[in-house]
Amino acid sequence: MDTRKHSDVVEDGRGRKMGVSGGRRCAACGVVVHWRIEKFCLQHRQQFGGHIYCMRCQAAFPAAS
Ligand SMILES: [Zn+2]
Repeated sequence: MDTRKHSDVVEDGRGRKMGVSGGRRCAACGVVVHWRIEKFCLQHRQQFGGHIYCMRCQAAFPAAS
């Protein structure tokens, strides 16, 4: 019997496991992002083109002033 849940544990490719809810990933580097990051990106969809980016990749999209 497999007790692992794929929905709440995600391998990040380096052996680490992260608890996530939703499993949204950065459109640029593929890292799993927090739901607050996703919400931030959706609130600034003009800045990020409607995609979800992690905080590191967001630095490549300067805020429109
Ligand atoms: Zn990223």
